[in-house]
Amino acid sequence: MNCRHCHHELTHTFVDLGSCPPSNAYLDEKSLYGPETWYPLKVLLCDKCWLVQTQDIVHADAMFSADYAYLSSYSSTMLRHAEDYVSHVSARFGLGPTSRVIEVASNDGYLLQYVQQRGIPCLGIEPTHVAANISRGKGIEVIEEFFGASLANELSARGLQADLMAGNNVLAHVPDINDFVKGFAILLKPNGVVTFEFPHLMNLIRNKLFDMIYHEHFSYLSLHAVQSVFRSNGLEVFDVEEVSTHGGSLRVYGQRSDVMHHPITTNVASFLSREKDAGMLDTAVYLGFHKELQKIKDDLLMFLIEQKRSGKNVVAYGAAAKGNTLLNFAGVRRDYLAYVVDRNPEKAGKFMPGNHIPIVDEENIRNSRPEYVLILPWNLKSEIMQQLDYIRDWGGKFMVAIPRLESLSFRELGQRTEQDAAIF
Ligand SMILES: [Zn+2]
Repeated sequence: MNCRHCHHELTHTFVDLGSCPPSNAYLDEKSLYGPETWYPLKVLLCDKCWLVQTQDIVHADAMFSADYAYLSSYSSTMLRHAEDYVSHVSARFGLGPTSRVIEVASNDGYLLQYVQQRGIPCLGIEPTHVAANISRGKGIEVIEEFFGASLANELSARGLQADLMAGNNVLAHVPDINDFVKGFAILLKPNGVVTFEFPHLMNLIRNKLFDMIYHEHFSYLSLHAVQSVFRSNGLEVFDVEEVSTHGGSLRVYGQRSDVMHHPITTNVASFLSREKDAGMLDTAVYLGFHKELQKIKDDLLMFLIEQKRSGKNVVAYGAAAKGNTLLNFAGVRRDYLAYVVDRNPEKAGKFMPGNHIPIVDEENIRNSRPEYVLILPWNLKSEIMQQLDYIRDWGGKFMVAIPRLESLSFRELGQRTEQDAAIF
């Protein structure tokens, strides 16, 4: 296979997680009795542009189910982050009633609702029907299509060019990253700004966040790789900053390279050199990653076996992609984990892909009083611990498996959050 961005031949494997079903292919009770399709989950490294990317899969189009259930507004952390983002960029770039903001992958309007509240005209682009419809219910105009150069040309011809285009947590999800980024350059006004937020590959490696790897994430991005993709497609990075989402993300600011309106900040060179110092321009860091994962798997399995033998109950919280990668890689089934709780009512009553652990509502925790709740979306652990604070009434404990298996207390969490903020 050749690199999706620079077409260089890919000869290095970054991580091989075996096979698993697509992470959002939740099953209903009836489909438990039918066949389930598993796909290889292997991630390769390009040693020319440093784009880390999933291996191409035959029949990939059949992989994505239409009833994609992830809705950003279910997380109060994501909502607060979106509100802060809108406040920050509106002030920095002087956005107002004569500007236009376009968000690509606008989901359920979790972000554009704050743009709208400020009286700034906005437009969402979101291919998922359920999410697009929820946004429309908030009065946000949404185009229900996949984004790329072709849609950008069409919208541009209709005079819909943007002062600000946002693409948060979407750059990793697109198979044709060149065409996607080119679309932003086409749809941007000459002095306009694009921002992308994506989990930073440097943190993924450093903190062993391998559960962020799943089929729907085609790319794992460093600033070096993003700069290369931008440059080939009409954009130039002019600023970059760290944000705390998904274990440490980068927010990259780009502009049209034919205009270069915004001065390039010193942050760009500084982040590039931090990546270089962390070994991100050397294959050794990437190739040493896989052996770290085996320890996480072993520790989790040993913990679950010990609890089972001593008659204690372990349940999990957060039926999302991260949990599916971890549980399927570790080979955990419902004999070790009775159920997974999720706040999204559309998931309750379904089953996790691959491991078939039932997804239930939170009432089950109150009723069955488990000794341990394993938090799968570690990026939302603080929010989840507050929400489930009552498990302390019966001596219940919170656990996470990544970056290492450990029990969390509120006191420790406070300290760790401060540490995380320092690291990220
Ligand atoms: Zn490449």
